[in-house]
Amino acid sequence: MQIVTDIKELQNKVSQIKHNHQSIGFVPTMGALHKGHVSLIMKAQENDCVIASIFVNPKQFGEGEDFEKYPRMIEADIDICKKAGVHILFMPKAEQLYTQDDAITILAPSIKGSILEGARRVGHFNGVLEVLLRLFHIAQPNKAYFGKKDAQQLLIVKQMVEELFLPVEIVSCPIVRDSNGLALSSRNRYLTQEGYHKALIIPKTLEEISKQIMGGEYRSAILQQKALEIFSTHNIEVDYIAITNYNLEEIKEIKKSQSLILLVVRIESVRLLDNLWI
Ligand code: AMP
Repeated sequence: MQIVTDIKELQNKVSQIKHNHQSIGFVPTMGALHKGHVSLIMKAQENDCVIASIFVNPKQFGEGEDFEKYPRMIEADIDICKKAGVHILFMPKAEQLYTQDDAITILAPSIKGSILEGARRVGHFNGVLEVLLRLFHIAQPNKAYFGKKDAQQLLIVKQMVEELFLPVEIVSCPIVRDSNGLALSSRNRYLTQEGYHKALIIPKTLEEISKQIMGGEYRSAILQQKALEIFSTHNIEVDYIAITNYNLEEIKEIKKSQSLILLVVRIESVRLLDNLWI
């Protein structure tokens, strides 16, 4: 595995790969890697060359968020990438990616980007798109791999690629969970053992909602109410539970293969996000 921090150096390597008519699969991450990230890297092996990036992007953190505190564990991450079969690990420096004070920026769509996560983390999706657009231009991937765990991000990134005619295919990958069902996240490590046990109510709630849907209950209000009840019984603070279509518009009734339940709860002041793609 080659580790590259310099943008020009990566561009040269990418030119060489393209010159050899090899395909590139790209997995952008913020590090603190876990099996969720590894699943994207494994899927990216369908390309000739796998490029993964680790960059804790300051632009997608708002004021008072955990940018400084975000877990950084470079040695372990390098090891994970090597074992997962990454060919090039790209770890750019912020000052090389963002060179101008008066920078060219990109804005997330005004509705999709400002609801749900976008309402709680103002400017978050602008920051996500700003870094991804730069990374896509540098790595020039044929395919880029994203987790369904960050559903809103995935849908917004897909829109950017479509709308800006970027020559990359976005591949959505299933949510990876631990043996107890909790969706893996770099932020799970902030939980105490007690918090972790409480967090297991999240997948249990989603399972319950799934069961209700399979039993023929499609009304969003009823399903939302059921989820709220379960969280309230366990004294879990709910940030939001939304039931939407793939355009992130709230819907009154679930439609199979077209609906999404997005939820965020707070446990021990850690925001835990999970989704159900129906
Ligand atoms: P992050 O490092 O949190 O920015 O995540 C990098 C990529 O990994 C994003 O596309 C995430 O959606 C994806 N990801 C994070 N956690 C999981 C998970 N548990 N299962 C699948 N993909 C995930």
